[in-house]
Amino acid sequence: MLTSVVGYPRIGAERELKFASEKYFKGEADEAELRAVARNLRAEHIRSQKEAGIDFITSNDFSFYDGLLDTAVLCGIVPKRYKELGLSELDTYYAMARGYQGEKGDVKALAMKKWFNTNYHYIVPELEDDTVIRLSGTKIFDEYEEAKENNIETKPVIVGAYTLLSLCRYTGRKQREDYKDAVVVVYKEIIEGLKKRGAKWIQFDEPSFVRDLDAKEVGFAKNLYQEILSAKGDVKILVQTYFGDVRDIYETLTELDFDGIGLDFVEGRQTRELIDKNGFPKDKLLFAGLINGKNVWKNNYEKSLNVLAELKAKGINAVLSTSCSLLHVPYTLDAETKLDEKYKKHFAYAKEKLAELRTIANIADGGDREAFAAYRENKELFARGRDCVDADVRKRLSEIREADYTRLPIRKEREKIQKEALKLPKFPTTTIGSFPQTKDVKKNRSSFRKGEISEAQYKEFNREKIKRAVEWQESIGIDVLVHGEYERNDMVEYFGESLSGYLFTEKAWVQSYGTRCVKPPVIWGDVSRKKPITVEWAVYAQSLSDKPVKGMLTGPVTILNWSFPREDISIKESMTQIALAIRDEVLDLEKNGIRIIQIDEAALREKLPLRKSDWYGEYLDFAIPAFRLVHSGVKAGTQIHTHMCYSEFTDIIPAIDNMDADVITFEASRSDLLILDALKKCNFETETGPGVYDIHSPRVPSVEEIVTALRKMREKVADDKLWVNPDCGLKTRGEEETKASLINLVQAAKQIRNEA
Ligand code: GLN
Ligand code: ZN
Repeated sequence: MLTSVVGYPRIGAERELKFASEKYFKGEADEAELRAVARNLRAEHIRSQKEAGIDFITSNDFSFYDGLLDTAVLCGIVPKRYKELGLSELDTYYAMARGYQGEKGDVKALAMKKWFNTNYHYIVPELEDDTVIRLSGTKIFDEYEEAKENNIETKPVIVGAYTLLSLCRYTGRKQREDYKDAVVVVYKEIIEGLKKRGAKWIQFDEPSFVRDLDAKEVGFAKNLYQEILSAKGDVKILVQTYFGDVRDIYETLTELDFDGIGLDFVEGRQTRELIDKNGFPKDKLLFAGLINGKNVWKNNYEKSLNVLAELKAKGINAVLSTSCSLLHVPYTLDAETKLDEKYKKHFAYAKEKLAELRTIANIADGGDREAFAAYRENKELFARGRDCVDADVRKRLSEIREADYTRLPIRKEREKIQKEALKLPKFPTTTIGSFPQTKDVKKNRSSFRKGEISEAQYKEFNREKIKRAVEWQESIGIDVLVHGEYERNDMVEYFGESLSGYLFTEKAWVQSYGTRCVKPPVIWGDVSRKKPITVEWAVYAQSLSDKPVKGMLTGPVTILNWSFPREDISIKESMTQIALAIRDEVLDLEKNGIRIIQIDEAALREKLPLRKSDWYGEYLDFAIPAFRLVHSGVKAGTQIHTHMCYSEFTDIIPAIDNMDADVITFEASRSDLLILDALKKCNFETETGPGVYDIHSPRVPSVEEIVTALRKMREKVADDKLWVNPDCGLKTRGEEETKASLINLVQAAKQIRNEA
């Protein structure tokens, strides 16, 4: 049985590409140095796959920033404003990815979006009416040939034409259909070019095929591929899908002239059913994505072998594959020097997944002694189970009653009680939580971590910071204060560290975008709160002021979405466990005199299923209740806030209202306030603080600007429901600009109060 890998991580096991790129950006390294690092990484990646015995190894999965951007550039999709800078090819590319500010001009970066249901972000290519689509580069050819020079035959990969055209932004009058012919020409030239260089297989990645597709979409895709595949000749084409099943386009894919079809058996809930129902053509290879490319757990060999046996019994020619690119998992467990073996033996990162592919394929083929020893070991591992069950947590979970998901009294009644208790002015002012994380703040944390300062010293520093922050907020007239979050490194890690069941890694970096990597913690077992987490800081801050200080928590949906989840229990169950843990913290804050508590759900949208039809049943129906469970126990007078980073929730407004928070703040300054129309239309009940300025830029907004924004907001949001706040936390900003901005924000609120 042959094995295939959809794609490999590229940032480097030690994040070499990140550091080399950053050096290049700072002008500390030249292009040749950067390219040399990249070349070495590529060589190493294909070599380790070859050594692991992988048959279908991908080339051109490397990228200096993002694979979709690479594909766009290869097709000549480069907006004029970037070309006009007159930069080198590489710098034009980086200008699109990161923006450019220098002697040649000042251009913002292209938009960045989440790649399907992952925490990886792609650059959104822009098609202008006069963009000429034509083959405009050689990257895919070069990287294929480079691998060949290293004596490794690869299958070059590129994002497929359908997904490319689906993800582009069309800035002019022309639409997708208008570019189809030109795109077809480029893809045919790519096929020709690779054929000429001796390629045997080419992989087109088409994750957009797992979305809801109507007949028109399927027709468009079919037409596109009928034309592209006419250039095929004797090179073989693999259409690789991932992140779900292809229920709407399965039959079409099997009818088209593809030689291989890559299907996701991990996230594709209907993949097996589709094969059962429709069969699979005998003359094509089925690339069976059984090894999870998105999570860090070891594969259950027996389960995979059962599926492979099932396929074989049907006479299907299967290649064992990863479910998606391994881009979404860290490099190797070898780098985890501190993680105990008892944990490690349950995990497989990218490199270990290669070994799993080979071993399972060997067993499927009848196996050798080595393969069977591995099989036995794997069976035992799963049979033995893990030390991950906490009886108390299970008991608590089983005791949750329907009523625990509902906060009483209802919103309208609470509102009155809260208005009386809190005595806030109209258009209350507040911030989202964090204050600038200046060098000294980070230093204080790292010194404490390294044991260079005592706990008392560490705390004293933070208390001093909090004191100054509270005094300053009072002095400029903010109504609802925050303590500043000086103790937090990251909004998930900080909580994870105080939750049992959480595991932290040393080197499990995963690319989030460009040079940015994240290190998601792993949910190992049942989760509960070990001890109060934020109470001490909140109580101290509140002791310094008569004004309410907001307690600041991260919600269960975000904590779960930014961690590697368990595979032995459902997402719903894990989320509910986390909700109970955070609920404990909410109740403790309340008991200790905190009158307003904010529960951030920055990542609520992240795991929204790709198919609309699954939004509620597969996600919102338990994610929203998890949030409600967190705060349903508080008294009527305690005000619950939540915060979301994007206003991209126009389509789930009823669900957001259903979170039953009293106040929600969110980013709105960059979205033309369109969201407000939608809120009005849906009769949104939650009080709202649409961010009045963009904290992602160092610009200081003027009073007039904020007043204008607020006037617009008043047209859509009732006066007694409108809050005044920035659009996100201020941790990435400098102190100067933060102070100037907030002073203006308070002034603007005062002016609006006079107008109202
Ligand atoms: N309370 C957090 C902060 O202010 C929220 C962060 C976020 O939304 N990403 O930093
Ligand atoms: Zn935010």
